[in-house]
Amino acid sequence: MQNGNVFSSLKDKVVIVTGGTRGIGFETVQAFLAQGSKVALFGSREETVAQALEKLAVINPSYTVRGYHPDLSNPEEIEKTVSEIKREFGGIDVLINNAGVSDNCSIYDYERDHFNDVMTINLRSVFEMSKAVAPIMRDKKKGVILNTSSMVSLYAQRIGSAYPTSKFAVNGLTKSLARELGKDGIRVNAVAPGIIETDMVAALDQNTVKSLASGIPLQILGKPQDIANAFLFLASDMSSYITGAVISVDGGFVG
Ligand code: NAD
Repeated sequence: MQNGNVFSSLKDKVVIVTGGTRGIGFETVQAFLAQGSKVALFGSREETVAQALEKLAVINPSYTVRGYHPDLSNPEEIEKTVSEIKREFGGIDVLINNAGVSDNCSIYDYERDHFNDVMTINLRSVFEMSKAVAPIMRDKKKGVILNTSSMVSLYAQRIGSAYPTSKFAVNGLTKSLARELGKDGIRVNAVAPGIIETDMVAALDQNTVKSLASGIPLQILGKPQDIANAFLFLASDMSSYITGAVISVDGGFVG
């Protein structure tokens, strides 16, 4: 029987959050910091990373958080940054692969580079980050890798096929790595958010959002905190017997 804070195992853990500057990622960074974790916050640009760090310093100046902006399409930069974090923090306990880009391009209009760009950030970077971090976790015989999938990894979407394709593949990668890394004490899971109120959703056509919302049994859009809560659970020892799972956090959306 657990007493007190159910997430106490997260205190002093070193957590990487990619796409940590805003939306789901920023909320996740705050949620882990509030549990006493130490966070390596990744963003795509130095400027947005600095802004996120400034906001966090206002919320709580004693948070332990550092910012990084490696090019997630460059495996060498990823390796270098992960080594730097290991040196600076003394290890890496949790990796949250959250950076992602959406896509609403019709197949008639696709330029090949655009399809590749979506796959590079949403899928390839998840593989490369996991590849860089897994040996560090193996040395400790313990670690957690969490991926941000999407409800479209179950239902696809009407237009913008690279996005669901990438997220279906993220589920496959999650389950494959869970099977491969379980023997090394590394758990790998994904969270599949429904429609969450972030900039990504604000950029979508509002009629599309309305028609999607009508399929949600709980009849409300999700909040970034809902996804952060799932990450806290999956990173903590409360989920120590869960691996290879894709957990839907979508208000019960049924396609
Ligand atoms: P967002 O656009 O607010 O944030 C995306 C984050 O990814 C940002 O921090 C950005 O810096 C980072 N990022 C984007 N391109 C990058 C690049 N090239 N290099 C490095 N970082 C990059 O979006 P969000 O809604 O918070 O999405 C976060 C994750 O959740 C994504 O993986 C997204 O696919 C997934 N998701 C979101 C929703 C939703 O409704 N918002 C639903 C399902 C899944």
